[in-house]
Amino acid sequence: MNKKLLLLIAVAAGVLGFFALGLDDYLTLDQLKASQARFGELLTQYPVLVPAAYFVIYVIVTALSLPGAAIMTLAGGALFGLWQGLLLVSFASSVGATLAFLVARFLLRDTVERRFGERLKAIDRGIERDGAFYLFTLRLVPIFPFFIINLVMGLTRLRIWTFYWISQVGMLAGTAVYVNAGTQLAAIERVGDILSLELLLSFVLLGLFPWIARAIVAVVQKRRVYKPWQKPKRFDRNLVVIGAGAGGLVSAYIAAAVKAKVTLVEAHKMGGDCLNYGCVPSKALIKSARVAQQMRHADQYGLQPATPQFSFRAVMARVHRIIAEVEPHDSVERYTGLGVEVLQGYAKIIDPWTVDIALNDGGSQRLTTRAIVIAAGAAPLIPDLPGLEDVDYVTSDTLWDAFAELDAPPRRLVVLGGGPIGSELAQAFARLGSTVSLVQRGERILHKEDPEVSELARQALQRDGVQVLTEHSALRCERDGERKLLVVAHAGEEKTIEFDQLLVSVGRKARLTGYGLEELGIPTAKTVTTNDYLETLYPNIYAAGDVAGPYQFTHTASHMAWYAAVNALFGQFKRFKVDYSVIPWTTFIDPEVARVGLSEEEARERGIACEVTRFELAELDRAIADSATSGFVKVLTVPGRDRILGATIVGTQAGDLLAEFVLAMRHGLGLNKILGTIHTYPTLAEANKYAAGEWKKAHAPERVLRWLARYHQWRRGGTA
Ligand SMILES: Cc1cc2nc3c(=O)[nH]c(=O)nc-3n(C[C@H](O)[C@H](O)[C@H](O)COP(=O)(O)OP(=O)(O)OC[C@H]3O[C@@H](n4cnc5c(N)ncnc54)[C@H](O)[C@@H]3O)c2cc1C
Repeated sequence: MNKKLLLLIAVAAGVLGFFALGLDDYLTLDQLKASQARFGELLTQYPVLVPAAYFVIYVIVTALSLPGAAIMTLAGGALFGLWQGLLLVSFASSVGATLAFLVARFLLRDTVERRFGERLKAIDRGIERDGAFYLFTLRLVPIFPFFIINLVMGLTRLRIWTFYWISQVGMLAGTAVYVNAGTQLAAIERVGDILSLELLLSFVLLGLFPWIARAIVAVVQKRRVYKPWQKPKRFDRNLVVIGAGAGGLVSAYIAAAVKAKVTLVEAHKMGGDCLNYGCVPSKALIKSARVAQQMRHADQYGLQPATPQFSFRAVMARVHRIIAEVEPHDSVERYTGLGVEVLQGYAKIIDPWTVDIALNDGGSQRLTTRAIVIAAGAAPLIPDLPGLEDVDYVTSDTLWDAFAELDAPPRRLVVLGGGPIGSELAQAFARLGSTVSLVQRGERILHKEDPEVSELARQALQRDGVQVLTEHSALRCERDGERKLLVVAHAGEEKTIEFDQLLVSVGRKARLTGYGLEELGIPTAKTVTTNDYLETLYPNIYAAGDVAGPYQFTHTASHMAWYAAVNALFGQFKRFKVDYSVIPWTTFIDPEVARVGLSEEEARERGIACEVTRFELAELDRAIADSATSGFVKVLTVPGRDRILGATIVGTQAGDLLAEFVLAMRHGLGLNKILGTIHTYPTLAEANKYAAGEWKKAHAPERVLRWLARYHQWRRGGTA
């Protein structure tokens, strides 16, 4: 028989036996008073056996969470006196509590984890950080029921030893009060009278003591961090923001909106990477590439296919035109109009309250400020590849200007890196006529997505002519006169790939040097290290966006910016922990790949139980009408419930379709709510509703339906 079942039967038998035998009648104040003299005689006769039996019974009562622990404690004082009673009760109650904690953990933890996986993770993180504090407070204040604390703590990941010793120490004062009361048993009328209001309040104060102590330690630490620096008496600004990408712009905007005096410093281009080198140019290019592809495959729509005739220079000019069209949204003029002072220059943090700006037009300016938001972004990662510097490679930073000079797309383009940026650009350039080889070290592209998604992406790219070379490691670049070569290793052999242009897109690394982090000793790893409030080592210096991670998206940069700016300006009243619980993203290949929450693979790796529901776009009227049937909607839900754990959509406009799932997850709406929402016919968005419908079908109440069939049969007069 399974161990859990055995334990459950043993616990249930213990509890039932206790009540069936009427043992609860013995654990009352009256019974205790009536039997005190008899127990006293027994103790004189058996001075070792009686304390031992008392200890064991106490452990059993608490381990099984039976009522009567308070009476047992009084009995300890009445029988053994204060010190021996305290010793026995203190150990017996801690051992019993730990057993109850273990029983709860063994029997229920897995089930609770499966059901509340992600939410429980947040609680576990809190327990890891503050569990000992919580437990100590709960133990010290005897109004929190003893057995509930044991059971609930068993469901968390608190370590057993921590639970034991904190329980022992935390319960000592309360135990002493009860044992001491037991020594004057005759004077007690009701158990509830033992704790006076004053005594309760002193316990509450004692319980709060560790928190107060911790707050004091935090203040002391903060002072120590700031000690080497001279804090200005007055400040020129409430906030200085470094970097005018998504993170910096939003931080500055929020500060200005709440009437703070804010300066935004940008060393290069307003709008940062997204506008100038990232999202905007790449999506503009992808659009041209898609139109070209549609022309080639116009026969799909009953039209004459055509080889697109175009000037690549014009395509790239359009990309720059699009940037210029979006530019006013992020411009100095717009932000100045919103109440932000914008300085164009390179910012350097001199001390926790001072920023030096080397202005682009010469000169410098030094500003003191209450708070700083670092939003310095990230830059393309350049691999340490021998010969790379000799082949005039481009990155996402340089390609837009470099390619604007070309009359035709690079004839042979090698894209190094099969992440979202590499995959998007590889497909776009292939559609614009380049012969593209995508070199990826790992075994699949878009490796953060489920394998089936990577496979669909690979097929999509290959359909457009991209040679997808997975499990190919770049070894070095070589130059042979005008010829440029990439040497790769694959299956134990070296291969060379000749190219005209090499695009390096192996990832992006946070900008961490040159602007004061090193001098101030602000810790960094891959990104600037922050706490949940986005505070760096110095609580008045915050970091947001790519420079702080963990995601590298425009929308996460602006999301973080809200927390950084609000905490920077109002943290003395209330601070907000950054919430990464529902983060969507899209890779804009064709078909698009969009995701929010868990993927199937992640759920498996993290041991989170889930149900998977799929709806194929091939079944959707609008997708059929558009000849865009490649893809699916995949939704992960809590087993037996409609709560969404994650959604992946592959298909045309997947990024837009995903918004419905993002909303649902953010606001706790389940698949039933999506199913109960009218979606316009015929739209691609109906795919979400049909996915919800698939889930509903799988959860149809079969037994009720069988009865309904009988009912209708009866209504027809019993005909089959
Ligand atoms: C090709 C490509 C495509 C992308 N596509 C998408 C997409 O489709 N969707 C999406 O969400 N994300 C996309 N991204 C990612 C997105 O661009 C970034 O996540 C986003 O720009 C991060 O914003 P940020 O404010 O953190 O940093 P950035 O936009 O990098 O801005 C940081 C700014 O700080 C400035 N700076 C740095 N140090 C200093 C200093 N000391 N003083 C003054 N100024 C300084 C820099 O000049 C820069 O302008 C893409 C990126 C690339 C490269």
